[in-house]
Amino acid sequence: MISDHELGCIPLTGLKKTIIRGGLETLYFSAAHHLMRPFVAGAGVILTLHHVRPPRLDRFQPNRLLEVTPSFLEDVVRWLQRSGLDLISLDEMYRRFTEGLVSEGRRRFVCITIDDGYRDTLDWAYPMLKKHQVPFTVYIPTSFPDRLGELWWLVLEGVIARSKRVSLLIDNKEQSFECATAGDKRHLYEQLYGYLRGLKTEEELRRVIRDLAGRYQVDIAAFCDELCMTWDELTTLAADPLVTIGAHTVNHVMLAKVLEKSARSEMEMSRAVIEASLGVRPAHLSYPVGDPTSAGPREFRIAAELGFKTAVTTRPGVIFREHVKHLTALPRVSLNGEHQQMRYARVLVSGAATAMWNGFRRVDAA
Ligand SMILES: [Zn+2]
Repeated sequence: MISDHELGCIPLTGLKKTIIRGGLETLYFSAAHHLMRPFVAGAGVILTLHHVRPPRLDRFQPNRLLEVTPSFLEDVVRWLQRSGLDLISLDEMYRRFTEGLVSEGRRRFVCITIDDGYRDTLDWAYPMLKKHQVPFTVYIPTSFPDRLGELWWLVLEGVIARSKRVSLLIDNKEQSFECATAGDKRHLYEQLYGYLRGLKTEEELRRVIRDLAGRYQVDIAAFCDELCMTWDELTTLAADPLVTIGAHTVNHVMLAKVLEKSARSEMEMSRAVIEASLGVRPAHLSYPVGDPTSAGPREFRIAAELGFKTAVTTRPGVIFREHVKHLTALPRVSLNGEHQQMRYARVLVSGAATAMWNGFRRVDAA
């Protein structure tokens, strides 16, 4: 077994998760998030979701942070409505920005966004949001409905789930890892995920994943079929005025890890393919993965040059008036499946947690 250090990775370890949870708890129970409100609440929040589906019992669920249950999301929606926040579409947020209506003194807004176009968006999130008349945005990587997508984080999960030992080439050296128990599997997933995310190019990452999929007979294409909406299903969703369809590149690539012309065509092509398939031209974009290693100033500039009204990252933060100058570098607040408690949602939406994580800096577009 090689160490984290040799792999050069920064996995989200149990310890780090505990610290995050501890911070949210402290803020909640000290009621500090109420006192901090005037300084940190901002004008609104864009929420990030991925899967919305009933819980599963498997012991090895390394991607669980990417899913919340329909009932948790419904609790959040009810609470947001009760609290008097405006649940609005991204177009409405953009209108408020352009008309100078986004400011700290006004009623706060919330935009709900769901990345990747999983079928559970249609099966679970949509009926609930429709019931409450809540607008939302779904960001589509077009290779997913085209059934050519590589959901590499799930391929990695699949390889580890079905194996007692995993071998792969790391720096041209064959390395082997034991993963018989659920604990070993979780540990190995974190190590390899960190290693893959640390690779310099998207191409290297895909090469490792295809190699693993081949060795352990995991069918990469099957994930799209099983989990992602078809164009027909997307057509149904897009027909509802509550739904905004946004672009999320073609191949779900970390844009900062590809050449500029590829980054540009990934954004441009995804918009063109969605327009051709659904008859709506996306005005909003979400950067895949969306952290600073996958979207930075170059991507923010390209998205603006291509005429996207807004583009969202996964950098944590709420929306301030100052973001009017950075509409293609917007932060979001993720509803994390590991923290499905209303008290965490309250602290996150209050802006207090993200303000502390960001050292009280309002805009991070560098
Ligand atoms: Zn995504």
